[in-house]
Amino acid sequence: MTHPDIAADALVCSARGCRAPARWALRWNNPRLHTPERRKTWLACATHRSSLGEFLDARGFLREVAPLAGSPTLEEWTRTTESQPGEREE
Ligand SMILES: [Zn+2]
Repeated sequence: MTHPDIAADALVCSARGCRAPARWALRWNNPRLHTPERRKTWLACATHRSSLGEFLDARGFLREVAPLAGSPTLEEWTRTTESQPGEREE
C-alpha cells in the first residue's frame, strides 16, 4: 500500500487508481486502532466521495466530511465529475 505525500497544491483523490483532484476530506477514526480524538483523513474527488464515505460509514469509522478549502464552487464540481478515461494505471 502506497502512502503518497500530500502536497498543498496537488491534493489527489485517495481512491485506488484515481488521480482526480480531491474536493472533499473524509475524516475517520477506527476505535480499535485510534484514540477517540484521532482523525485520519482520506481525500476524495466528487466521484468517490460517496463510495469512500460509504466504505467508512459501513464500518462505523466515518466522523465527518468537509469540503477542501480552496475547492471550486459546487457548480464547478458538478460540471467536472466525469473523469478522463484512458489515463488510469493499476
Ligand atoms: Zn476519485
